[in-house]
Amino acid sequence: MMKKLERFLYSRLSRHSFENEHEKFLYLISYVACTYAASMNFFLFFFHLAINVIPLLIISLADFMIIILCFWLVERGYYLPFGLLLSGTVIIHTLATAVCIGTNNLVIVYLLVTLMMQIIIPYASKLVRTVVIVVLLASMIAIVLIGHYLSPFWDIGDSYGVLAMFNIHLAFFGTVIQLTIRNTIWDTILKFNEKELEKRKGEANTDPLTGLFNRRYADNFFNKLSNGQIEPVWCIAMLDIDDFKLINDTYGHQIGDLVLKLLSSLIKTSLRKTDYVFRWGGEEFLILIKDIDVSVAFNILDKLRARLESETVVIHDNVLKITVTIGVCSLDVHNVEQSIDECDRLMYKGKVSGKNQVIM
Ligand code: GH3
Ligand code: MG
Ligand code: MG
Repeated sequence: MMKKLERFLYSRLSRHSFENEHEKFLYLISYVACTYAASMNFFLFFFHLAINVIPLLIISLADFMIIILCFWLVERGYYLPFGLLLSGTVIIHTLATAVCIGTNNLVIVYLLVTLMMQIIIPYASKLVRTVVIVVLLASMIAIVLIGHYLSPFWDIGDSYGVLAMFNIHLAFFGTVIQLTIRNTIWDTILKFNEKELEKRKGEANTDPLTGLFNRRYADNFFNKLSNGQIEPVWCIAMLDIDDFKLINDTYGHQIGDLVLKLLSSLIKTSLRKTDYVFRWGGEEFLILIKDIDVSVAFNILDKLRARLESETVVIHDNVLKITVTIGVCSLDVHNVEQSIDECDRLMYKGKVSGKNQVIM
């Protein structure tokens, strides 16, 4: 139940952008208050329908409209009107109930739950909420006076008992929810923040077009490698698309982008999970193959090259042939720069000697 609630609150958070933590809290707790008010009113609407007290039925309907308006206000961050409107609605509903059907159904608890709302939901300044608390106290006194001096317009017979029971539950759950929801909301906000941070870190390390790791991540990776934090046996390869400028010039930049995306996923799926692919530059990819000899790396890359050569790529009805040239050597973890230069040099050698080949 709590997990479900957390998931629900989480989904609410991810639909909005907030200025700070305080606003996240305010949004969630106000949303919960609206949901609680809506569900309570749902019962009251049918109760009023059953006892056939028309003024209360009309008030219930009006309450529904106002609660929908409250949701709308919360969604847009208008917390002050939301708080005042919801509190005012409860006060009017309570007084109307007292006048129409009397007070011995414990209708006063609506005011108590709303009083707690003033303490727990920081929808307005302390001064404003104190004024509302005073109005709530005055309403409670009014309820006592109505109960004492006014006889109710409707006698609802045994239904008093049903309403009193409902009101006891309303007060109980209203109190429990308001007292416990704080922790659940803060837990949700904490989890949300952690996920956001991870997402942002991920975004900083990946190339938005291809989803591959970027150069920044590669720098990080090579630092760890030099410090001995990562196992040291790797082959390193530079892959460059042949005549990519021609593809752009012939089919347009957008098709060029799609080719880059497609090729990225083809490279990734041709390698093992332990290997790495970085988008090194425009149409250049740096590949790290783990734990193998350079001749084995050559074979793996040549298979990839041959696969690309044999496949025709169809993008938006354009039939394309894509080939790549790759330079591969073993990685010297103490001279990473030099190894990158070396595989780049080999790749260039492949370019000048006809392209569409792997050189080691
Ligand atoms: P070579 O076979 O010698 O590698 O020739 P090439 O045409 O592939 O190489 P060149 O360096 O002349 O051109 C690379 C082209 O890649 C030029 C540039 O417009 C294109 N390019 C770089 N980044 C992107 C990108 O993100 N999207 C698209 N569509 N094109 C890109
Ligand atoms: Mg190229
Ligand atoms: Mg290039």
